[in-house]
Order: sequence, then C-alpha cells, then structure tokens
Amino acid sequence: MKIEQNRKVGIIGDGQLALMLANAASMLNINTICFGSNEKSPASYSTDVIIGDISDKNKFNHFLQSSDIITYETENIDTTAIEDALLKNKISPNLDILKICQNRFLEKNMLNSLGIATTPFRNIETKEELYNNAKEFNYQCILKTSCFGYDGKGQVLISSIRDVELAWQILHKQLKSGLIVEKKVNFDCELSIIAVRDNHGHIEYYPLVQNLHKAGILRLTLAPYIYPSYANELQKQAEDIISTVMNKYNYIGVMCIELFKVEEKLLVNEIAPRVHNSGHWTIEGCRVSQFENHIRAITNLNILPPEPVGYSAMYNCISSMQEYNIVSAIKAMDNINTINLHDYHKQARDHRKLGHITLNTESKDVYMKNLQKLNAIFQLNNQ
Ligand code: ADP
Ligand code: MG
Repeated sequence: MKIEQNRKVGIIGDGQLALMLANAASMLNINTICFGSNEKSPASYSTDVIIGDISDKNKFNHFLQSSDIITYETENIDTTAIEDALLKNKISPNLDILKICQNRFLEKNMLNSLGIATTPFRNIETKEELYNNAKEFNYQCILKTSCFGYDGKGQVLISSIRDVELAWQILHKQLKSGLIVEKKVNFDCELSIIAVRDNHGHIEYYPLVQNLHKAGILRLTLAPYIYPSYANELQKQAEDIISTVMNKYNYIGVMCIELFKVEEKLLVNEIAPRVHNSGHWTIEGCRVSQFENHIRAITNLNILPPEPVGYSAMYNCISSMQEYNIVSAIKAMDNINTINLHDYHKQARDHRKLGHITLNTESKDVYMKNLQKLNAIFQLNNQ
C-alpha cells in the first residue's frame, strides 16, 4: 500500500534532524508536521510544529490525527505515552527497537545476543558494584547513564581509583533510569555506518565514514572512510552488523551504528534508530541523502542507492556560529566544487550544535589539501 503523496508524515521532535527530514519530504511533495517543544525550533523554519508535551494527551492526539505515519528524530522519548496514544497510526522505526535503543544496557545485551561485539560492560546498582567493576576494568572505563545521554552528556571517565568516588557522586542520582560502566576502548578511530531498510526487507548501505569527536561531541565526519587497504572488508563487516540488527527487528527507515575500529575488527559503540549527524554529508555528498531515503522507506516509496559523489567532509559548528570563523574557512578553499553552510537557527549555547558546513569535491588531491586547511581553522590537529 502506497501512501498518497498529499498525506502527512508526523515527526516527533523539532530539532535540526526534523528540519532536514521535513526539507527532504518537501522535495518529494510529502507534507510533514512536527511535535516539538519550542516556538523557534529549527524545524519551525521549514514546517508546522505542534508544541506540547507527549504526556499532554489532547495535544499529542491532535498531532496523531494530523499525521498518517509517525517517525522520530530522537530516541529520548516517552514510549509509554506513545504506546497508549497510538491507535491507527503506524510508527517507523517500530517501538520494539526504539525501546531497546533508548537504554544502553538493553542495547548492548541485544547486540551481544546477536553475536555482535561491544566493549565489555556491567549494569551498576550500587557504589560497591562500581568499585568492583572499575577495578576489573583496570580503572580504564566510563560510567554512563543508561538512558537520555547524547553528545557525551551523562558520562564520566574513570582513569584511576580516585575517579570512582567522583563518578559515583556525579551520576548516582540517575540510578533510577539505570547506569552502566564500560571498558574504555583504545580504538584506532571511530567510524559509523548508515543504512536504510524498506518494508520488503531491501537494504541500501551508505559507505563507512570516519568520525572525530572532541569532549564526546562529533566535530568532523570524513566520507567515505578511505584509508586502510582492508577498508572494503571493514565495509562488509559493518554491513553484516547493521543488516543483522535491521532484519531481526523488521526495521523500516534509516539506522546509524557508531563503531570503534580496533585493528581489523569493529566493535559497536551505539545504535541510533534514526537519521544521524554523521550522515549530514549525504545531503550534498550523495545523490540520495539519508533524509530522503528515510522518508521514502517509511512512506512505502522505493528506497534508492545512495550513490556517493566524490569526497566529503562535514564540520559541526558548536557553541557559536562564529567560533570557527566560517567565512575564513570558506575563503581558504581551493577549487572546491561545493561548500555548504547549514544554519539551524538555534540560540548559541556552550556545547550546542548550531550548524554544520559540508565540503564536497570529486578530486582526492583537492580534498586532501583543503582538509588540512580546514583542520587548522577548526583546530582539529591535536585530537
Ligand atoms: P553519546 O550518546 O553521547 O553519543 P557515546 O557512548 O557515543 O554517547 O559516547 C560519545 C563519545 O565518547 C564516543 O563517540 C567516543 O568518542 C567516546 N566514548 C564513549 N564510550 C567509549 C568507550 N567505551 N571507549 C572509548 N571511548 C568512548
Ligand atoms: Mg554516540
């Protein structure tokens, strides 16, 4: 059953991912409506937003009645409230996978049960358990909230026995929604893979990309990941991982899996059951972006091969739109086919993602030369 093109996709959330989903839908002549919390949210610049709290039944029902199919831009949502309210609306990706991906402990257990490797982790319920497990991990571990974390929030690094007490002090109040401690991975680099699956079980894969983080926040994505001679085998490994999860849960839509590369093996860090920041480059860097393919999948349109074009780099603008001197970054470019600035219209705040720039070129030489210049401007040399 195809949904008619004048019907509406309801998006839970009104941030930049919702904005980019709404833009992609509009290019396909599909209408959108968001359920959000903010008068001047990024999505409000592009589509209608109903403002309210998910627990407000009247508001949420109004949103559901205005939509034919529901999707979401964040996994941090109250699934109980949604489950109670959803009657005839279909939600994609489904609530089973959403509930697992909301909780790091459930997510890592699910992955391990499918034979997919993660770093060792333990559920933590008492301070004593934290001391014992941190010792087992040689005091090279991270205490994390199981739920609601994003952009490195809700995480404390433990590097010695002295850090254990402090980590407990900082996070023990969030015990109710769960805590885990996980072994710190000495990775060579961080990668991610994005794929899209339709309701017939067909999957299209985007190429592996490399991600650089600072203080837990994504700063730079390099696409595709091109460096080692065995990059093709890594791509195959990543595709096996993501297809195993998608097929198991009869997943419909875009998924992203964040990975740690340790020599020739991939460990899963976490799953995003949605479009992802490390896929923003696909707007200019692919013939079909992650946003378009997500809308296609959930509305029963054909999903399409991504067809990457040349080489892309995506820089997040964090804390301030001026911080990185975007103008000088653009001026420094040599022969760049395209450099695009995306402003999310958000108020500046420390550690907040306010926009991104993507550079894209078909020449590897031009790409490498410009990357060096941009890395200097974006101060990414001392990772
Ligand atoms: P978030 O939900 O905030 O993205 P992540 O678990 O992905 O949380 O952590 C953010 C970043 O912190 C990761 O991309 C990585 O750079 C670092 N990190 C998280 N867990 C580990 C780990 N076990 N070992 C090494 N680095 C880690
Ligand atoms: Mg992450």
